[in-house]
Amino acid sequence: MIKTYTDISGQYLIDGEWIESEDIKDVINPAQINEIVGKVALCSREEVRRSVDVAKKSFKNWSRTEPQERADIMKRAAKRLSETVEEHVPLFVQENGKTIVEAKKDLLRCVEVMEEGANTLLDWWNPKYIDSKAEQSVQIRKRPQGVTAVISPWNSPMILTFKRAIPAILAGNTVIIKPATNCPLTVLSSFQIIAPFFPPGTINVVTGSGSMIGKELCQDKRIRTIAFTGSTETGKKIIDMSSNTVKKLHLELGGNDPAIVLPDAELDNTIIKRITMGVLRSTGQVCSAIKRIYVHESKHEEIVEKLRKEFERIVVGNGMQPDATIGPLNNKEQYDYVYKLLEISRKDGAKIETLGQKLDDDSWEEGYFMLPSLVTNIDHKSELVSSEQFGPIIPIISYKDIEDAIDMANDTEFGLKASVWTSNKEKAKYLADQLESGAVFYNNHTVFQDLDIDFPGIKQSGLSEETLYGGLDLFSDSYGFAD
Ligand code: NAP
Ligand code: MG
Repeated sequence: MIKTYTDISGQYLIDGEWIESEDIKDVINPAQINEIVGKVALCSREEVRRSVDVAKKSFKNWSRTEPQERADIMKRAAKRLSETVEEHVPLFVQENGKTIVEAKKDLLRCVEVMEEGANTLLDWWNPKYIDSKAEQSVQIRKRPQGVTAVISPWNSPMILTFKRAIPAILAGNTVIIKPATNCPLTVLSSFQIIAPFFPPGTINVVTGSGSMIGKELCQDKRIRTIAFTGSTETGKKIIDMSSNTVKKLHLELGGNDPAIVLPDAELDNTIIKRITMGVLRSTGQVCSAIKRIYVHESKHEEIVEKLRKEFERIVVGNGMQPDATIGPLNNKEQYDYVYKLLEISRKDGAKIETLGQKLDDDSWEEGYFMLPSLVTNIDHKSELVSSEQFGPIIPIISYKDIEDAIDMANDTEFGLKASVWTSNKEKAKYLADQLESGAVFYNNHTVFQDLDIDFPGIKQSGLSEETLYGGLDLFSDSYGFAD
């Protein structure tokens, strides 16, 4: 029988054992804020230190297992997890606010990360010879790095934990996972399913104060690698706190992605839907959502009119209801922040059109619901444009000269993703060369379909390498063996 998350509510995992914490906090349903979905343990400093002791001790054996064995275990665990996807959907929706469709997609992708990672492992692991003109023969071999900490955010807590923890485990590292306090239950429940397939101590999950746990993990020299996904602000603290122990840091940070619409863009139905969902998927709480639109003045009226119509069709409500196109914002802080940005924009003289439909008027006030808004007549320097709004509101700014659009797009510390909308692919490539971002999409603003392909953010959006091979490269050291 599959155990349910209620069994691990308020618990954390160290050395294969689920431990009940005395110190706990409620996890709230953002669509129904009076509803408590479960509890999250607030681990103490000592408990975090013990997780490192255990992960360090377990590393010796796990790192020496054959890759074939690790791949086999991972495949068995993936199969078991795949049987629980349906059951996990409601839990995920209730603690996060995503819709059923969004939640299921994320959960399936986690299983895929496990399967694909396991399938890739052997080929990737095999030593490779370097072509050398000298007599000496040189092999490139891999070895795991050691104890790896994975710290993940609340906006897409499942995939952003799995994308890091799974390759780390497959490469032979032991892990300490620290999910976000707002949204830890599906992560905990999934690792309750997965962890027993592995030797105790291979996977440990601690929860609670990000700043305390983060400090402990960053300052502990036994931890070799930290994979962090979250805000740029926290990423900077991690760099600071880790400096004394010189670790490998993989930081996937914030974004303020621009979309540039050229005069020759074909704004048909498909394109308008892509822009709309590029802005609104997961209620805008996506690191690589479109967060600013720069449109040529000749297209301004047309795009606003078409987006207005499309935004009108968006139904906002409890993600558990199949009719909801988007759910609530995840937490009060985020909700208040997005409202504040709207207020600032209004005071600055921007035109705000609030659109979309309420799925259920009666329960509207009971959740962090927000209708989507188009914001025009807004200055490029305004806070809504320069900050990462993480909500269902989008500023649209006209430009005359494409050079101004490029300058405005690059006028940010962020550099995650960008998109160019035009009927001329060559022009898009030319523009892409000028845009300071980790990846550029042409007539789309999405993710890479193939799990093996992604590109990290540049500037203050990240510090990492390409995550080809599902990230296995990030969690191993390549070393030379010469004979
Ligand atoms: P956050 O506040 O930075 O928190 C992320 C994680 O770090 C949470 O687990 C948090 O724990 C923990 N944390 C908090 N303070 C810490 C500290 N001082 N040291 C170490 N860890 C600490 O980010 P968020 O608000 O959860 O997530 C939204 C942000 O993530 C956005 O900026 C978004 O763009 C970014 N993001 C980036 C990517 C990407 O791939 N580039 C993907 C998704 C999201 P608590 O929950 O306990 O505070
Ligand atoms: Mg913005």
